[in-house]
Amino acid sequence: MSESFIALSVCEDCLLFIANGIDDSTPQETVSGAENAAGWLMAGSEDLGFSWSHCEVCQRRLGGQRHRAWLDPH
Ligand SMILES: [Zn+2]
Repeated sequence: MSESFIALSVCEDCLLFIANGIDDSTPQETVSGAENAAGWLMAGSEDLGFSWSHCEVCQRRLGGQRHRAWLDPH
């Protein structure tokens, strides 16, 4: 992984959106967050476990599984 990539902690919904694109269950916050991201988002393979920290894509604060994603800045 390039050192210029920024590591993000993202929720399940955002990880699936980054990996597979939009579908009927994609939250609006995820779509908006991805549109506002300062670069290209890529799904990582690392499971970060349960966390109460906010998702760094959709910004929602629900507790849940967090996963690694990568941001390639513009
Ligand atoms: Zn999210």
